[in-house]
Amino acid sequence: MLGASRMLMPRGAVLVHSVCMSTVPQVCVVGSGPAGFYTAQQILKSHASAQVDMYEKLPTPFGLVRYGVAPDHQEVKNCIHTFTQTALQDRFTFLGNVEVGCDVTLDQLREAYHSVVLAYGAAEDRPLGIPGEMLPNVLSARCFVGWYNGLPEDANINVNLDTDSAVVVGQGNVAIDVARILLTSIDILKKTDIPESVLASLAESRVKRVTLVGRRGPEHVAFTIKELREMVNLAGCRPSLQPSDYQHLRHLIPNLPRPRKRLLELLAKTALEEPNPKLAASYASAVRQWSLQFLRSPVEVLASEDGSVSGLKLAKNKLEGKKGQERAITTEDKEILECGLVLRSIGYRGHAVDASLPFDPHTATIPNKEGRVTGNPGLYVSGWIATGPVGVILSTMTSGFTTGKAVVADIQTTAVDINQHKEGKTAIQRVLAEKGVRIVSFKQWQQLDQHEMLAGAKLGKPREKVTNLHRMMELSQ
Ligand code: FAD
Repeated sequence: MLGASRMLMPRGAVLVHSVCMSTVPQVCVVGSGPAGFYTAQQILKSHASAQVDMYEKLPTPFGLVRYGVAPDHQEVKNCIHTFTQTALQDRFTFLGNVEVGCDVTLDQLREAYHSVVLAYGAAEDRPLGIPGEMLPNVLSARCFVGWYNGLPEDANINVNLDTDSAVVVGQGNVAIDVARILLTSIDILKKTDIPESVLASLAESRVKRVTLVGRRGPEHVAFTIKELREMVNLAGCRPSLQPSDYQHLRHLIPNLPRPRKRLLELLAKTALEEPNPKLAASYASAVRQWSLQFLRSPVEVLASEDGSVSGLKLAKNKLEGKKGQERAITTEDKEILECGLVLRSIGYRGHAVDASLPFDPHTATIPNKEGRVTGNPGLYVSGWIATGPVGVILSTMTSGFTTGKAVVADIQTTAVDINQHKEGKTAIQRVLAEKGVRIVSFKQWQQLDQHEMLAGAKLGKPREKVTNLHRMMELSQ
């Protein structure tokens, strides 16, 4: 057939060439976390010729899988193998060390590509907005997580663990992650990929008590059962739960949907029943403890005379509103929780990388319908910047797949005009070369990856992360 059409167009070689060029849909994805990779995977799977280029601000791919997921949850990071399979496909290019909104503008990407997918996550944090929040040792969980995961921008933050009490504001899975890292024995942590410098600080840590503070009651906790079970069974550590906080759960539990029911059953059992003999023995010899404080809102971080954190002033709350949608209302009643470290874990927050983007400040997301950015044909979002910073890798996968399908459907229905020739990465590489930005390819990342794994193997851990950007660039030459 190809031969026949050539015969019909004797002088058409150039024409055939230009038609082919213009009908390769050029798609770019901004961000290489789960949302970016699952979107790319879907596009490559359901379109036979689309080219997908992925721009990532760091020299390393995988977003929060590398820099958020807890180092003692290595099995969760297995999705990296699937992402690597995608990255190694012929029609895929990784362009690391390129920050959209800084090295290249959204307009430049839109000019160079038929479709642009924003999958850059939600990397800002929510402040508490209370006096004393700027004191040293009042940190966002986001920074603390970045620190123990070797994120270059947080690698050198000052974390003072010379205190016996820490308070985590928040009762979600990230709050549990940071509490668990603070309370886990160093012998276990040193087998994870926590950087050596951080392990040295954790080895010296005096933290014995971690309290997780929540605005509402135990029926409103946001963590999930796996994370709670780990805390209940954490070696060398015991729960210190006030039974009176949990009595009412017994009446609530029977009417709850199954996942919630199982979670609250475990919480009530831990607070109200005798532990089994094995756990009882473990609790009896425990040197550390964790507790949950309910119906409290932080109102001020208190400092001692030397300026260090001495405690957190909390307002007691009461619940108002319809059953199941209760809101916490602060009262005049206050109390002080003594501590030397405060970690606020009240959520991540998205932002707009470009002023031209529609942005909903209330949800901190880019408004979209099934991944299509409202009023912007050819522009898409997926993952946390589309849905808000909630949910796990699995829900991000669903978001990525939905957006990937929308991208392909729009190409196939010509909602996006692919007959207009687009240069794709060639145009952007020119822009970056002019600015002197050195792109890190996937192959170059794999060199850094190899280096980290070899360095880790010598220390008996999965990898020793390089946390200095300059050094990362050197190793990914
Ligand atoms: P991200 O993973 O944040 O990826 C965004 C990427 O975009 C990053 O690589 C970032 O560097 C890049 N980027 C940002 N701005 C730009 C820019 N301007 N230009 C170019 N690139 C940019 N889920 C689980 O299933 N199990 C867990 O155990 C688990 N633990 C978690 C622990 C923590 C502390 C956190 C915060 C989340 C955890 N999650 C877990 C949730 C999971 O990490 C998220 O669902 C998922 O990472 C969201 O994917 P994303 O691609 O939207 O964002």
